[in-house]
Amino acid sequence: MDGFSRYFADIALEGEKIASIGNNLSGRKEISASGKWIFPGVIDVHTHFSLPFAGVVSSDDFLSGTRAAAAGGVTTIIDFTSQVGDEGLRPGFERRMKMAEPNCVIDYSFHACIGRFSQAVENDLQWASDNGLTSLKIFSAYKKAGLMLDDGKIYDLLCKSKPNGILITIHAENGDVIENLIEKEVFKGNTGMIGHSISRPPFTEVEAVSRVCRLACSANSPIYIVHLSCGESAKFIEKSFESGRIFLETCPQYLFLDDSLFGKGNGHFFASCPPIRQKSQQAGLIEGLKNGRIQVVATDHCPFTSQAKNTWRNDFRNLPMGLPGVETLLPLILGKSSVFQLSPNDAIKLISVNPAKIFGLYPDKGTLQPGTDADLVVYNPAVKKILSAKTLNMNIDYSPYEGFETQGVVEMTTSRGEIIFNNGELRAKPGRGKLLKRRKFECSQ
Ligand SMILES: [Zn+2]
Repeated sequence: MDGFSRYFADIALEGEKIASIGNNLSGRKEISASGKWIFPGVIDVHTHFSLPFAGVVSSDDFLSGTRAAAAGGVTTIIDFTSQVGDEGLRPGFERRMKMAEPNCVIDYSFHACIGRFSQAVENDLQWASDNGLTSLKIFSAYKKAGLMLDDGKIYDLLCKSKPNGILITIHAENGDVIENLIEKEVFKGNTGMIGHSISRPPFTEVEAVSRVCRLACSANSPIYIVHLSCGESAKFIEKSFESGRIFLETCPQYLFLDDSLFGKGNGHFFASCPPIRQKSQQAGLIEGLKNGRIQVVATDHCPFTSQAKNTWRNDFRNLPMGLPGVETLLPLILGKSSVFQLSPNDAIKLISVNPAKIFGLYPDKGTLQPGTDADLVVYNPAVKKILSAKTLNMNIDYSPYEGFETQGVVEMTTSRGEIIFNNGELRAKPGRGKLLKRRKFECSQ
């Protein structure tokens, strides 16, 4: 994927769009950004607002979640629909729209999430594609929850989605092996956080990643693998596939956190699926970010308050899985890009340019050019900031990154020309965000 450049310029906005970029531009209202960086708004393609899980609901809804996103320089999110029974894609979309439409303060879309590839889903593929819902989310795990597709269905869906320009995104873990290992750990009475780790070993991800990549290559279809947690998975892809049609995503939690946290008293606050891994897995992920094999960092934002996490009663089977993240994506990936020896431009590629291209939003989003949406972040690279739940806007009482020092701070966020966040002040009105009609997936990317 081609990059973008960094230079000094004025940016003129007109209405919702960028009118021109050049020198000595003037306008009715001028904002000085000397010494600051301006880049396209961040696109978090993996959020779960108001997601029911283990008897509770993720603590950010579409209002609190998108407000926090705006404070973190995020101007677009892609969340998920859900499927009940064998229904097609429309009912789930309509249910989520009722929640999102009156509340979102930034632009949004959905991946259509299914646990069953039914006839009704197949019938709706064309509808989804025509209406800009150009990605589906499936699982190779969570059999008991009714979410796991078997290999036959995965292959069939890969074959049938491509002609409609729909990209299949997948949670790749080996569900059968994991459920067997969970039974073993529970039988031993090992239901604490270490049991969670032991029952989802790295090979269960690596195996599923390799299998679904083979299926995608055989179907001659693209595939996007969400939340890669193991460096071994990224390395496997490097060795085995030259195809440019396999897209990989990782999340900040797999780059910055490791399973030594599970040994601590509040280890269950850090629980997600797949779990954070041994520190040794991080090098392979970082290498993947640097060599371009991993194209996207997104958050899998799915926060549960300490009260909700504490309902687990020392049994990981009761634990609401997920971590907060939408507001800390930019601070961690750009503000700590030096940890990975990534340039600021490379960091922005991972969290804005590439997600826009892969998910059919480019060039309206993910770039600054005349005619594109004026979604801008004004970033002061000279200021240091310490991350803390007390000063973050997400609706959660802890941060997995408490005390992390990051370089730079978001001073202003605009969404289609409107200032929605300015020096700590959130100004966005609920419901101002727009549903985005995404382009069909094109395999040339
Ligand atoms: Zn997720």
